[in-house]
Parts: sequence; structure tokens; C-alpha cells
Amino acid sequence: MASTTQIEACSVTKTFGKFAALRDISLTIAEGEFLSLLGPSGSGKTTFLTLLGGYEAVTSGQLLFEGQDMTGWSAKERAFGMVFQGYALFPHLTVAENIAFPLKVQKRSKARIDARVAEMIELVGLAGHAHKKPSALSGGQQQRVALARALAYEPKVLLLDEPFSALDKNLRGQMQEELRRLHRDLGTTFVFVTHDQEEALALSTRIAIFNHGHLQQIGTPDEVYERPANRFTAEFLGDINILSLQGGNITGSAITAPPHAQGNGHLAIRPEHMRLAQDYDTNRLPTTVRDRVYLGAKSRLLLATGAGEELILYFDNGPGEAPPAPGATLEVTWDPRDSFAV
Ligand code: ATP
Repeated sequence: MASTTQIEACSVTKTFGKFAALRDISLTIAEGEFLSLLGPSGSGKTTFLTLLGGYEAVTSGQLLFEGQDMTGWSAKERAFGMVFQGYALFPHLTVAENIAFPLKVQKRSKARIDARVAEMIELVGLAGHAHKKPSALSGGQQQRVALARALAYEPKVLLLDEPFSALDKNLRGQMQEELRRLHRDLGTTFVFVTHDQEEALALSTRIAIFNHGHLQQIGTPDEVYERPANRFTAEFLGDINILSLQGGNITGSAITAPPHAQGNGHLAIRPEHMRLAQDYDTNRLPTTVRDRVYLGAKSRLLLATGAGEELILYFDNGPGEAPPAPGATLEVTWDPRDSFAV
């Protein structure tokens, strides 16, 4: 990954009337990066994307592009590519005409436009569909046209707002693969809005996590997953077990809290770092199985501690023992290094 800073947001705030949709956002985006903006509905992801694209003006703060102040530049001056949630294709134009549209606006020669359109159609795997209207295409194909159109004039930055939200799970997976390939092949900077944690983890070089208009954390997928900065990030990215601490111990047990959690109220452990305790394990937390959900390759056990706190434990299905049934008692353990204070 290139590490030259391409875009920088400095204390960016956006208010709509009295409502602050974004507060004091500072972050950098490296050239060639695949940055996902992740967060729940209403957290400000789309607003941040529209500020980057120049479709809305910042209320305060600054946006830099390659070191230059672009805060006052119009969307046209920034000339970033944009792919929206809906595909926003022109229904009366063919696939080829849709892709050619931004190039015509730029008044490129017909020969150059034709060559570029053919290249883009090939790139997104739509050979043979050039003369179809969008209504004759599947959702995935329409999204490919939208991608091809946004990439046709070689923008330095491509902004994508939940481009796959309308697609079913399989097609979504396919399109994610294609987007990874496009990003790898083109080296363009991608800024991608999603509320889907798995999608963000799978696609991004880094993830920026938003909540209520605040940037919670920015980091590589494994950084934000393995070392969440706070409880919101820990809970938002996948399953998490949270145990309260009391007097230096895990509440209701003799297990001492690790040094890094002393003085903190809660200890967090990802379920995949928890396992059934063996005889040789010293830290054993007794639990009772509350519920068991069969998930195919795994079963998900819902456990209750003596203090009444709930934990998740994954149990691999397959040869060997069947997962314990509700009512069973079992002891769990984990490596203290896999726990963190929240
Ligand atoms: P979603 O995943 O639902 O699209 P989001 O994280 O992208 O959510 P935004 O669309 O950025 O969230 O919205 C953030 C907040 O700002 C929301 O509370 C929204 O209602 C508000 N908001 C966005 N645009 C406007 C606007 N033009 N006028 C007033 N409020 C707005």
C-alpha cells in the first residue's frame, strides 16, 4: 500500500441546522488506499462521503487534497468518481452510452471515447451487454455499469456509498471480489461507505468507525477488530464477551483481572479466543449453557456466568463430541493476553 497522504480531513464538522451530523473529524487517506467508513445508520458516513466529494459544504474545518486546500472546491473541480446506493443509471441510454456519458461531458474525441468504453466494459465483465438498456440487466450487472461509468474518466478517488446494499448475499460476495480486483488492478483510492462489518473487514486496507457523528477509531481491519479503542468499537465489530470486574477479580469468580485491565470496569474477550477449560488450565470460569444455536460448521452457545453475565462460545461441529445442551455446566478459559479493558 502506498503511504503518501492524498486526502486529509482537519477537524471537519457538519451541522444541519442545530444538528451536528459530524463533529471534529480528523483523518488522513493514503493514495491507493481502500478506506471503509463503517458505522450504524445515521452515524454520519454518507455525510462524510458527500463532504469529500464536494456535494455538501463543510460547516467548519478543512479538507486537503494532495496538500492543497480543497474545502471550497466544487464537486466538478474535485472530479472524484461516485457510485451510489441506487445505481442512478440513465434508463434511456444503453450500457455503452451510460459509460460514455462522463467522457462526452469532458468532450473527448469519439475514437477515444469508444476505445475507453470498450475497455471499461471488458474491465467490469460486461462484454456482450454494451447495447442493452439498464432495465434488461440484473442488479449486479447494473452496479457494474455504475462502476464502469464512475471509473471511465480515471478519477484519482472513487467514492462508493453502500453500492451493494440492494444485492442478494451471493451476488454481493461476487461484487465484493470484483471490487477488490478492480482496486488491486487500478490502484485508485477507494472510499467505501458500508454498515456491514464483514464487508468492511474483508475489503479494506483501513476502516474508519463512526458513531453519532464521531470518529471512534481508524485502523487496519485486524487493528480495529483485535484492539478496539473503546466499547462501542468492540461491540460493533462482531461478537464480544464482556465481563465486569470487581476488586481486581472477574465478578463472581476467583479469576484475577490481567494487569492491563486493573482499575477498569470491564474486560472484553472475543468468543473465538474463549475455549472449554481443560484440567491443566488455572483460570476457569464456571458457566451454565442457556441456549444453543446450530449454525452448520459451528454451534453458538450462549452461556451464563455465576454473576449472571452472558457469554458466547463457538463450538466446532464435526467428528468428536456433540455440543453441550442447555442446562449443562461447563468451565471456560482464555489467554489473558487476548483480553482487553473496555
Ligand atoms: P445510513 O447508513 O442510514 O445511510 P449514515 O451513517 O450514512 O446512515 P448520514 O446519512 O450521514 O448517516 O446521516 C447522519 C445524520 O445526519 C442523520 O441523523 C441524518 O438524519 C442527518 N442528515 C443527513 N443529511 C441531512 C440533511 N440534508 N438535512 C438534515 N439532516 C441530515
